[in-house]
Order: sequence, then C-alpha cells, then structure tokens
Amino acid sequence: MSFDEFSTGDTRFVAETKLPTDRGFYRVRGYRHSVDGAPPTEPVAIVYGEIEGRESVPVRVHDACFTSEVLGSLKCDCKQQLQLAMEYVQEHDGMVIYLHQEGRGIGLANKLAAYQLQDEKGLDTVDANRALGLPDDTREYTAVANILEGMGIKSIRLMTNNPRKVATLERLGVKIDGRIPCIVQANLFNQGYLEAKEGRMKHYLDGSWCYWDHSGSTFDEADAGGGEDAGVDKAESAPEGGDDVTVDAQ
Ligand SMILES: [Zn+2]
Repeated sequence: MSFDEFSTGDTRFVAETKLPTDRGFYRVRGYRHSVDGAPPTEPVAIVYGEIEGRESVPVRVHDACFTSEVLGSLKCDCKQQLQLAMEYVQEHDGMVIYLHQEGRGIGLANKLAAYQLQDEKGLDTVDANRALGLPDDTREYTAVANILEGMGIKSIRLMTNNPRKVATLERLGVKIDGRIPCIVQANLFNQGYLEAKEGRMKHYLDGSWCYWDHSGSTFDEADAGGGEDAGVDKAESAPEGGDDVTVDAQ
C-alpha cells in the first residue's frame, strides 16, 4: 500500500501508563491510528520526562522489528538502535515513537520471504524486495506528526541515520531542529544489510558497517581498506553533527 502525500491520518490517544522496565519507569502512551482506509495500527509513544510543550525534544521514530527485538536476530541493527534510543531519552528527556511497520512496511511474512531470497540467491535487502514485487519502503509517518501535535511538542531533534525519514517528517510539518546519529556496531551477519542501507538507501552510516571484514575479523586485527576509523565512536564523524550517541552492541 502506498500513501499519498496529502494523507493526514487519524491518530487517537487511548491511554497512558507508567511502566516499570529494566531501565526505570517510562511513560507509555497508546494510540490507535488509521490512514487512507488501511487497517488500523497501534503506535506507542515511550516517553521519559515531562516533554509536553517543549522544543528540540529528542525523538526516535522506530519501526517494529520482531526478528531482532523479540528473537534476537543479528541480521539487522534494529534492537540495538531501540536500546540506544531508550537510553538516550532517559538521559536527556525525550520520546521513542514505536510504529508497527515491520520490514520497512512490507510486513513480517514478506520480510521472511525476502530473507529466504537473500539466503538462496545472495540478493541484498533492496533487490530481494524488488524480486518479490514489493516496494523498497512503504512506511508512513502521519502518526508521528499527529502524536507530536497532540502533545504540543514544538520541535524535535530526530534520532536517525535515514535521510528519507527526515525529509518525510518535514513534509508532514514536523519541525526538526537537528539530527542525532543512531549508529551501532555492525556484526558478522548484518554487515551486508548495513552496507545496503548506506549504499542503496543513502543512510548516514559513515562506513560503520565496515567494522567487520568479510571473513568476520575486525579491522583492529585485519588491515582492510576503509576501516581506519572503525571502532566504537562512530557518531563523531557523522554529518550534520548533533549529540554523539554510541552504543557497544557487542
Ligand atoms: Zn530489524
């Protein structure tokens, strides 16, 4: 399904609860959202601090990833990015908006089908979607604009490496004061995925996926090209500045 750019979506606040987690208490706000007649979804805002009415609030817009967040899959970096964002908002007061848009919007079963094609034919994440007749990215973010407006948040600093997400939110009227890089260390299994994110979807990853070479040893041990600044602190050299955010995902 694709959404035209004039969609606004209908996003209704349902309830807020104070949730004890292994990182402390977060305010968890549930919503129901529908856009252009698509089946309704249930976005969740995970909030730390009293951020209503404020400017430059750190916000991560995070899309669900069952395989990494629940199963611990190493094929992508979603779980580590979510953990990084939850830690960041706890330290700086902010919010993670969690959207149920698995597999860049194609859904879980389609994502598994794309994985199968990657296994069998060696396709990358973009070509596997295309081989299945699926779009590269069908995520839509009207819920984000609506949630921010509902909470009276005047502007945000977006935690992302994805320029499409920045542009899409700005088109929806979200005022973005800055970008906070959200880069985690690559591992042996997600190196190709991160390479595709940077090379084909133009994410700002600054070659961080190069942390491992193809045999699985690190650039600390093997002198392969392009990895001279591979290491823990990637955010420093990411474009557009913002607060440095890193996590040791090993
Ligand atoms: Zn993922």
